[in-house]
Amino acid sequence: MRLILLGAPGAGKGTVAKLLTQLDGSVQISTGDILRGAVQAGTELGKKAEAFMKAGDLVPDELIMGIMEDRLQEDDCAKGFLLDGFPRTIPQAEALKDLLARLNITLDMAVNIDVPRDVILDRLTTRRTCSNSDCQAIYNVKSNPPKVEGVCDKCGSPVIQRDDETEEAITRRLETYNEKTAPLVDFYEKEGMLLTVQATSSDDVIAAIKAKLGS
Ligand code: ADP
Ligand code: ZN
Repeated sequence: MRLILLGAPGAGKGTVAKLLTQLDGSVQISTGDILRGAVQAGTELGKKAEAFMKAGDLVPDELIMGIMEDRLQEDDCAKGFLLDGFPRTIPQAEALKDLLARLNITLDMAVNIDVPRDVILDRLTTRRTCSNSDCQAIYNVKSNPPKVEGVCDKCGSPVIQRDDETEEAITRRLETYNEKTAPLVDFYEKEGMLLTVQATSSDDVIAAIKAKLGS
């Protein structure tokens, strides 16, 4: 399947994407994971992106489009992909439309995961992430803690609170979302490819997507 996952930070895009990859071999493409990997590795991209990310601001569209143009042409995308955290602005959505037309790729739909704001805030402050850039497993101190406190179940690396998960950065990320990313819901509605799912359980989101795809 070829999907865009839309939703505020903390809506569960990453969790839903990971579950969907198990269904049909589609790959998760998370621009946030790619950027955090680049920051850790200290690449040119990472150096350019780091300050924006730490503040909870968006990384410039040109950098993101460069990443995505390369990523979508890798072999593992042939079976399908789940775009998690991209596009994030109207210019990115326009550029993606052009890019997909050039690559002759059609999307199934854009899924808007709509979660109440109080749930989002609670999740973001209690979220923890594996510090290993090749893993980046997501935990929650309340609802899904690692088996051993502070240690990733999957790879054994330390589980940490992300730099952009301070209260200040979270507030900024939510503002950025409302200003820059929320308009994409209308954009994809007009494109006739929007599915909105109001659900706080990722299993319910998966069920709604499957029902819509008829699989
Ligand atoms: P979340 O969805 O939880 O905010 P992500 O992991 O998707 O987190 O993104 C973390 C940060 O990476 C964002 O706050 C932003 O700085 C940057 N980022 C990720 N994806 C994009 C994108 N498509 N465009 C611009 N910046 C991005
Ligand atoms: Zn890990």
